[in-house]
Amino acid sequence: MALLVQKYGGTSVGSIERIEAVADKVVAYKDQGNDMVIVVSAMSGETNRLVALAQEISPQASGRELDVLMTTGEQVTIALLAMALEKRGYAAKSYTGGQAKIVTDNNHNKARIKSIDHQNIQRDLDAGRIIVVAGFQGVDEESNITTLGRGGSDTTGVALAAALKADECQIFTDVDGVYTTDPRVEPEARRLITITYEEMLEMASLGSKVLQIRAVEFAQKYAVPLRVLSSFEEGEGTLITTDYETDKTMEQALISGIAFNRDEAQLTINGVSDTPGVAYQILGPISDANIEVDMILQNVGADGSTDFTFTVHRNDYETAMASLEKTANQLKAREVRGNNRIVKISLVGVGMRSHAGIASRMFEILAREGINILMISTSEIKISVLVDEKYLELGVRALHEGFDLKSE
Ligand code: ASP
Ligand code: MG
Repeated sequence: MALLVQKYGGTSVGSIERIEAVADKVVAYKDQGNDMVIVVSAMSGETNRLVALAQEISPQASGRELDVLMTTGEQVTIALLAMALEKRGYAAKSYTGGQAKIVTDNNHNKARIKSIDHQNIQRDLDAGRIIVVAGFQGVDEESNITTLGRGGSDTTGVALAAALKADECQIFTDVDGVYTTDPRVEPEARRLITITYEEMLEMASLGSKVLQIRAVEFAQKYAVPLRVLSSFEEGEGTLITTDYETDKTMEQALISGIAFNRDEAQLTINGVSDTPGVAYQILGPISDANIEVDMILQNVGADGSTDFTFTVHRNDYETAMASLEKTANQLKAREVRGNNRIVKISLVGVGMRSHAGIASRMFEILAREGINILMISTSEIKISVLVDEKYLELGVRALHEGFDLKSE
């Protein structure tokens, strides 16, 4: 017998039929003798619909009222699922975030969980009840309703699993696991049996959309075994866990996956003087404009001048460009250039730590396809390259093949 926290996303509870199907699934786990805590999202599309309603009233609606509005979506699904469980003859009880005593800070729309007092839930579990908790929501110290950021139900699931010391947190979604890369780009992508927290974090921050980053961070911090699996098909899914546990599975690939991100833009300022403070003068105004900078490259030329290149999200390209042009005037730079038709492709794998030569193999594979690399950045467990967007599919497939990710 185990304590399982299961989270069902928006598509999994997107209609009455699907909610009934989730109820069938949950009671099957319960019948096997497990204690069950279920976290649900709003029905698919519902949160967007609510946000659009708010927009119609005012694009400047306050964070507090937006949270009051957005959390109604999950309140609908917890009640409907609890009713479906009761209809099947099981004792069930729905909890809003506040009732579950999920206390957050007061940053509306992106609150962080501070504590969970799980006593009431534990008592209900001990009494044999199935618990159904609204994802994505909590309350601050003053009982104001808060939300955890879009996709935040994953975080609710993991946080509850940590608080209750659950045996596993299972995220049921519309894909049947974490893949070596996006199967829409590489149909031969393969489901991973396990992946480490670290790798999953890199994959998520590099563009893989399977899990909310914060949920993975939370799971890593509290060592919650996290499993991604399909709510529509049977299967083991992918287990996200520690290095040690994945070693035991003998799935010792060098590379676990290839992530990519289409939202990149690159800006370059050429011929600025190579003196202290220049990097700050260039990037200071960018960060003041709340624009996040990803890769940064500075290259010293022979004539005492330097070139400086950095990347931002494509949505921030125009604003960043305007800021850079201003700076270029002040610094009497030779020229400013930019490119917003680029993408980032990244290899991720803890195996890189213990193996040299992966970067050069990556560059060789790309060179063979005639793909020019615009920028490179590395960390202990990833190598990212920036390339022209027209090479995205070709690059991902060539690397997938070249690093032998298809085979078991
Ligand atoms: N319903 C929320 C959203 O759409 C939270 C979630 O689904 O995780 O972002
Ligand atoms: Mg979601």
